[in-house]
Amino acid sequence: MFGSHLGDDGLMGKLLMVEDYEPDNIDGCSPLAKHVDASESWIILIERGGCGFVEKVRNMQASGAAAVLVGDPWYDLPITMYASGDTSDVHIPSSFVARSQYNGLRQAARDAGSKGLNIKLVRNEYYELPFLDVLFITILSPMLMMGFIYVLYRLRLRQHRLRDLAPTDFVNSLPVKTFYHSKYREGEPAECAICLDDFDDEDELRVLPCRHQYHVKCIDRWLTTRKKFCPICKQNVCPVSESSPLLSSRLRSIV
Ligand SMILES: [Zn+2]
Ligand SMILES: [Zn+2]
Repeated sequence: MFGSHLGDDGLMGKLLMVEDYEPDNIDGCSPLAKHVDASESWIILIERGGCGFVEKVRNMQASGAAAVLVGDPWYDLPITMYASGDTSDVHIPSSFVARSQYNGLRQAARDAGSKGLNIKLVRNEYYELPFLDVLFITILSPMLMMGFIYVLYRLRLRQHRLRDLAPTDFVNSLPVKTFYHSKYREGEPAECAICLDDFDDEDELRVLPCRHQYHVKCIDRWLTTRKKFCPICKQNVCPVSESSPLLSSRLRSIV
């Protein structure tokens, strides 16, 4: 994203590996102490990390490089080298090379030995326009971020909803009794406060801890999909450990 682009003919040069030439400066974060021989065209290979891309290229340009390659020692992923601020002083081309290319270049330079390795940089039409990068940064990444936030929001909402409900297993464990008019006692409710139907003989009634009674299917649906509270007296049907494991463990630790 800075410096000059390669021409149609590409760029021919001799590879200079800073890791051999000046091992302390392998990342190119300072200019080479000894400038390269100006009679040759040098393509200088340095390593990613330590400082910004443009700083590296600037340093190598000041050291006499015709072009710069920045190798990634960690990842095998090509990236575009971005830079902030004014980069108009950078006039040489530079390119990032992913780990396998980086290691390939180093090996080739080793194999070439003392006679040195001549390489030619050519334009890659596919990477010429960083269109995909720009698209990713301006559109896709905010969309991904928003999608992520939305998923988190839905998860939180679901968690909150679940916290307001009674677990099905627990509801199933609450006692059930069969209603008979013959066993009806004065003062007891004779109708289901949810569906407002009178209890009939042999109706299955769920008895909540507060002693309020409802049709099994009415109260089970209420407790597992609406609220874990008794519709009449609002008492929580779940013991603390059932409704809020976090709270109960805190209480236990306090005790
Ligand atoms: Zn009912
Ligand atoms: Zn109740």
